[in-house]
Amino acid sequence: MNTKHFDVVVVGAGTAGITVASMLLRELKNIKVAIIDPADTHYYQPLYTLVGAGADDVKKTARPMASVIPKNADWIKEPVIGFEPDNNRVITNNSTYQYEYLVVAPGLQIDWDIIEGLKETLGKNGVCSVYGYKQSEDTWNILRNFKGGKAIFTAAWTPVKCGGASQKIMYLTDAFLRKKNLRNNTDIQFISSGTKIFAVPGFTETLEKLIKEKDIGVRFKHDLIKVDGTNKKAWFRVHTPEKEDTIIEENFDLLHVVPPQSAPDFIKNSPLAINEGPLKGWMDVDKYTLKHVNYENVYGLGDVAGLPTAKTGAAVRKQAPVVAEAILSKIKKESYIQKSLYNGYSACPIVTDYHHVLLAEFGYNNEPMPSFPIDTTKPRFSMYLLKHYVLPWFYWNRMLKGKG
Ligand SMILES: Cc1cc2nc3c(=O)[nH]c(=O)nc-3n(C[C@H](O)[C@H](O)[C@H](O)COP(=O)(O)OP(=O)(O)OC[C@H]3O[C@@H](n4cnc5c(N)ncnc54)[C@H](O)[C@@H]3O)c2cc1C
Repeated sequence: MNTKHFDVVVVGAGTAGITVASMLLRELKNIKVAIIDPADTHYYQPLYTLVGAGADDVKKTARPMASVIPKNADWIKEPVIGFEPDNNRVITNNSTYQYEYLVVAPGLQIDWDIIEGLKETLGKNGVCSVYGYKQSEDTWNILRNFKGGKAIFTAAWTPVKCGGASQKIMYLTDAFLRKKNLRNNTDIQFISSGTKIFAVPGFTETLEKLIKEKDIGVRFKHDLIKVDGTNKKAWFRVHTPEKEDTIIEENFDLLHVVPPQSAPDFIKNSPLAINEGPLKGWMDVDKYTLKHVNYENVYGLGDVAGLPTAKTGAAVRKQAPVVAEAILSKIKKESYIQKSLYNGYSACPIVTDYHHVLLAEFGYNNEPMPSFPIDTTKPRFSMYLLKHYVLPWFYWNRMLKGKG
């Protein structure tokens, strides 16, 4: 088998992979960096919730992969299928790639199949999800043709990217239906696997109040397990303390699903995965240095990382410099003291209607970590402008270029 050698191999050309590769190549132009990713297109996923509510055009979320790969990098357009970290090798179907340093950033996989009947009906029969390019466009088509009835919004029991997405699309739906005079004949229900509306103090209270004001019904500890789109029925497993789980059936006219998610299978089945416990299958990295716990020259970041914080692009923005700095100082053979450590920072701009956002920023243990000297636990127009216009500009023009 063909083997090529690189200073750094990056697996995944998403938010995390491109940001780290750009940071490395801005600092050291002559190092050999390979980015391995089979995808033709790079997606800015945070806009999907706005697309789902008709507030933006899905085309703005996608750009050709070739346009975001840094100039001096080698793009290898193949899927990675395995790792041999003891031999510093990454494996694809046709080749192996040898590295000095490995950066693992293939995101996560969406397990649509775990919910019986979902795949068959997604995008039709009132069943939708903002978790994907086509899916978010389908969500808007379903919403704009909705004539009222019962609208259910679910949230999964697994870690997911952007845990706030289930609520963002729900609040936007509420605002859309009010605008269309359909809210009076619509019953909105948030039926979630979670145990509370939001875990960060300050935001929990605001969202509890908001949900009451918007007259949205809330049920927790309910896992969506089965959907029958044709007959507009959904089934939930209900967890009740000290009793056996029960299964309940709900009718719906609109069902928005946040599907279960997990580490990609080729990570789960690799020596890089966590072997047991609640984060089993995700990549086993130190929560501060993002270095693999067993391999000195392997780093992991982004959605794939088994970290006790929310999986977001905002988290990647703080993780990428930690990984880039560590690899650069090792390559430059500087006496190595890791200056920056990742503190668990993540952020969730919760869109509460077409003009307002609550910007929740927090670290490990959910302690608030605000970046702005204003109270962002209140829905604000300024934060909506940040989410809809400033952050996408920043993403394409600064972050992906290693400048942010
Ligand atoms: C609906 C929705 C709303 C969101 N809202 C927000 C928000 O408001 N704010 C925010 O900060 N974040 C938000 N996010 C989350 C954010 O988009 C992700 O956290 C971020 O993109 C993670 O980056 P990543 O590089 O880990 O994964 P990704 O950006 O998903 O990239 C993974 C890359 O790995 C590649 N890959 C996969 N398998 C392989 C393989 N076998 N070999 C090689 N390459 C592979 C893929 O092709 C892809 O290019 C949202 C996400 C969704 C879905």
